[in-house]
Amino acid sequence: MQYKPYIKLFFGTLFSIILSFQVSASSLPEYTTEVAENVYSYGNPNMGYFSMFVVTEKGVAVFETVNTQHSQGMLAAIQKVTNKPIRKVFHSHNHWDHSSGGKVFQDVGAKTIAHHQAYEWMVNNPNPDMSIPSKFWKGTRKDIKMGDTTIELHYLGMNHGLGMTVFVLPKKRIAYIADLVTPNRVLFTIVPDFNIKPFVASLKKIESLDFDKAVYSHSHASPFEAKSWVTTTHEFISDIRSAIFAEFGKGTPFGQIPTVIDLPKYNGLAMYNEWLHMNVWRIMLDDVMGPFPWTPPHKFNARKSHHKHERHND
Ligand SMILES: [Zn+2]
Repeated sequence: MQYKPYIKLFFGTLFSIILSFQVSASSLPEYTTEVAENVYSYGNPNMGYFSMFVVTEKGVAVFETVNTQHSQGMLAAIQKVTNKPIRKVFHSHNHWDHSSGGKVFQDVGAKTIAHHQAYEWMVNNPNPDMSIPSKFWKGTRKDIKMGDTTIELHYLGMNHGLGMTVFVLPKKRIAYIADLVTPNRVLFTIVPDFNIKPFVASLKKIESLDFDKAVYSHSHASPFEAKSWVTTTHEFISDIRSAIFAEFGKGTPFGQIPTVIDLPKYNGLAMYNEWLHMNVWRIMLDDVMGPFPWTPPHKFNARKSHHKHERHND
């Protein structure tokens, strides 16, 4: 009878081997990370774009289609994780490199959704890989409920591209943030289509939103990173601007300023050596030329105001 504990141990070990096999057999699809219960990031790090999807009681919500290849991979990954239908697919903003691929999800019955400013741009700037969203939303805030999951849509005003939306899952305290913040990296090259001052104002608004971590569309480490990168981003811009004004004070020639500025505090960030001078150029030009790109906050109807004027004169 003395061997009994050993038999128990043997079967116990065998059982745990079977269990661990089951765990590995049900492991997540390629490029998929479960960042919280029922919340996943999806993206091939070599391609540099990350999306998010959340499995709710009422089906799946997807954030950022990127392009057809990315969306096809993500669709396959979602279908391995759950058999629930994909209901809603959100675009963060207008740019082709983020908003393409929507048809992949429209074809399986999902509604694709963008802020109306992004929608109008997408209608007027076609791209073969980009489909027109099924729906658009207006205003600065919208909450969408899918069963017990609330999805907050925040339009924070002019910052980058058009109709830029920050998404928050308040119960999970998780956000999805495209382009506005890229953890572990300096700003993107010439900081294209960013209007710097409202961009900084938006970053400060993002700080006040209720979340702890975000899936960021681009990242040089894990796509799921701390909220503190939002603060680091606007401090980085502020430090660049201070350095520019210090050089103005010293009388450094305008054209030399981008090459002489060094910010050792940030030299651990990816692309520091390659892109810092481009970041400086862009922020310096914004200070010299005035804010750009800029669009009027309301449609200016010249004909209507002209008529009003005429009538007034009558
Ligand atoms: Zn963009």
